[in-house]
Amino acid sequence: MSVDPLSFLDGNAAAGELREVFAVDLTAAAGQCARCGRVAVLAEARLYVHAPGLVARCAGCDGVLFRLVKAPGRTWLDLRGLAYLQIATPDEQDRPPPA
Ligand SMILES: [Zn+2]
Repeated sequence: MSVDPLSFLDGNAAAGELREVFAVDLTAAAGQCARCGRVAVLAEARLYVHAPGLVARCAGCDGVLFRLVKAPGRTWLDLRGLAYLQIATPDEQDRPPPA
């Protein structure tokens, strides 16, 4: 499958929208793709913004990781493409990264 690298942004471009929903920067959270099992930080996702909302796709298999759509007074967040998210909490940020 050929992917045009100019047709998407990287997952970092979703930081502001995700911060409004969760009040933390989730682009640094590690998530597992429910389709292929790849584990990566959300910043590595391929972010498509030419849709009614944001669509983040797995850099490994192109499966949808999450969809985020905003309308006045509400936000929809579809996370079914993620098996899990691992979010650093303050006590974990003080620990050295795993080897
Ligand atoms: Zn995947």
